[in-house]
Amino acid sequence: MTKFVFPLLCLPLCAMLCSNHKEQSEPSAKPVEISRGLVGKSASTADFSTSTAEISGSTADFLGTPSPVSAPADTIAKTATEQRMERLGFVDIQRIDPSIQVSLMYTRADNFTGRVLYTDLHRAYLHPEAAQALKKAQAELKRLRPDLSLKVYDAARPMSVQQRMYNVVKGTSKSIYVSNPKNGGGLHNYGLAVDLTLCDAKGDTLHMGTVIDYLGKLAHVKGEQQRMAEGQLSQTAISNRKLLRRVMAAGGFKVLSTEWWHFNLHTRAEAKARYKVIP
Ligand SMILES: [Zn+2]
Repeated sequence: MTKFVFPLLCLPLCAMLCSNHKEQSEPSAKPVEISRGLVGKSASTADFSTSTAEISGSTADFLGTPSPVSAPADTIAKTATEQRMERLGFVDIQRIDPSIQVSLMYTRADNFTGRVLYTDLHRAYLHPEAAQALKKAQAELKRLRPDLSLKVYDAARPMSVQQRMYNVVKGTSKSIYVSNPKNGGGLHNYGLAVDLTLCDAKGDTLHMGTVIDYLGKLAHVKGEQQRMAEGQLSQTAISNRKLLRRVMAAGGFKVLSTEWWHFNLHTRAEAKARYKVIP
């Protein structure tokens, strides 16, 4: 996509404004270690690709005790960041449910910054609770529409990437949409939020009225009916959005009112009280 005007919506600032928010195989890939801590000592926020050593002694415990998963055989070696995410206890959602499609938007330059922000992160990670919740959502979708799948565009986002994002837009007109990491993270930074849409069996996304990360009222949930009446959103787009919300609700997620694609498992207050951001 080349028209990523303002994707930032899932960025923490928006999260703040909106209150409840913004490969070669390891032959013997072990199940994700989930009994270890989630986020421990601080890792460098400047370069997450080289900061794996500092976090090995993580001590915080997960809340909840998700079961270990049997991962499909990995065919591509994990990057340093991916290995770090797993040591911290985050899980690759495609190991939880291989039928969920993933296309991380920040691995490409056609995002609002015009830069590749995920240089070392190609798998979609979530907190285990959120990954299990997403699996439930996918199951509900398959029950209702076996021909469709969830397609994830962003999931857990390390604070180091948030810092990079902030640095890119700092001093530009886009800066108001990206929170300063020093002020705390959004739900993506806890691995408790996901940006996603619906796709068909070929991976082609369904019509939702706007692209993901579109900035403007057409992306808002509130007022959809009125915008349909005004001819700005089609009945098909509204129906597809409702289906997405229905299946995500089955997993326990709530949509962000200003972004049809962004879903939180918890509120910011809950996240702040019970979880830690990803360094
Ligand atoms: Zn988001």
